[in-house]
Amino acid sequence: MSLIVQKYGGTSVQDIDRIRNVARRVIQTRKEGHDVVVVVSAMAGETNRLIELARSVSPNPDEREYDQIISTGEQVTIGLLALALQSAGQPARSFLGHQVKILTDSVYSKARIKNIDAQVIFDTLKKGMVVVVAGFQGMDEEGNITTLGRGGSDTTGVALAAALKADLCEIYTDVDGIYTTDPRICPEALKLKKISYEEMLELASLGAKVLQIRSVEFAAKYGVNLVVRSSLNDNEGTRVTKEDKDMEEVVVSGITLNKDEAKISLRRLVDKPGIAMKIFRPIAEAAINVDMIVQNISEDGHTDMTFTVPRTDLVRAQGIIKKVAEDIGCKKVDADEDIAKVSVVGLGMRSHAGVASKIFQTLAENNVNIEMISTSEIKVSVVVKKKDGEKAVKVLHEAFELGGKG
Ligand code: ADP
Ligand code: ASP
Ligand code: MG
Repeated sequence: MSLIVQKYGGTSVQDIDRIRNVARRVIQTRKEGHDVVVVVSAMAGETNRLIELARSVSPNPDEREYDQIISTGEQVTIGLLALALQSAGQPARSFLGHQVKILTDSVYSKARIKNIDAQVIFDTLKKGMVVVVAGFQGMDEEGNITTLGRGGSDTTGVALAAALKADLCEIYTDVDGIYTTDPRICPEALKLKKISYEEMLELASLGAKVLQIRSVEFAAKYGVNLVVRSSLNDNEGTRVTKEDKDMEEVVVSGITLNKDEAKISLRRLVDKPGIAMKIFRPIAEAAINVDMIVQNISEDGHTDMTFTVPRTDLVRAQGIIKKVAEDIGCKKVDADEDIAKVSVVGLGMRSHAGVASKIFQTLAENNVNIEMISTSEIKVSVVVKKKDGEKAVKVLHEAFELGGKG
């Protein structure tokens, strides 16, 4: 007998019919002789609704109360799924994050899991029950409820699989697996049979929200056997796994689009040591993730600095930068939300030259202006105007021949 963790996302539990469908799949897995731990998200749209409720009372809500509120969607779905399983004759018990002791740090709304005390899960499985756990939430050392960031149920699923040493972690969603790009933007996208942890980490961090980035970090760190597949059919899905030889041969494996960032520019900074530290230290202390940073070449002792942050952190970042700008004598700070980041990812870029120039040529031919560029060993990202984001994904997908031609 093996142990399988199955995580079902919001669309897979969006109504009672879908919850019954999940119950059927779980029971089928039990019939095949496996122990099952299920992690569920809130019903599709519910977390957004809760966020709006909180913001309607307070536009800049207290972080602790905000997490108290937005974590509740999952409490409903675990209870409903446990009931659906019981009604179908399968004993089941649901647990909130703190009831299985998912211990996190205290960084509200993007808490990190520190430890999972899996004893209660093992005890419950031993009684022949299915264990249903609320995704997205945990508890800090002081007993406060925390949430793990949008899409965080993936991380609950994978972290549980690691803690329980599960044989398999299945992430069930509304597409058949991981594609060369978002199949909703580019219908020609091809499903990948497998992808390395490393490439998936890049895709996730660059905006392919099919897996939350921290779930991929956990999977890579603990070697979790991970599969992404659809809850609505029996198609095979995509395996996320250790890198192997034939993966290296693929130059480009995927393209991502991220429309959830904003850029901040500080103009005419005095070009002297310590300026970057003064700008980015307080931003880091506020737990705001800076992504791309571009500093122009200095001209008459002055330079411009531009960087991107998550759009949800823009107002906080602007508040911080306003103070810093006064301190360092910078008179002009601009913010721009009208951007999209498009990234091309592939392990084979390590050994193949010319990917960046092909990207620039393709975008030029299609009249897409590039505002920022950043590269790493296995990716190239460009920032373009928001309206050009989807077009850029499509033309690059075609230029790198990722579609279903062959
Ligand atoms: P869930 O609610 O199940 O967690 P998400 O909406 O978080 O589902 O993630 C699934 C979505 O991710 C898909 O519907 C798809 O639009 C999007 N997506 C983005 N990039 C990719 C990709 N490369 N492959 C598959 N899906 C992708
Ligand atoms: N319900 C949470 C969200 O919408 C967590 C998740 O779905 O993974 O972000
Ligand atoms: Mg998700």
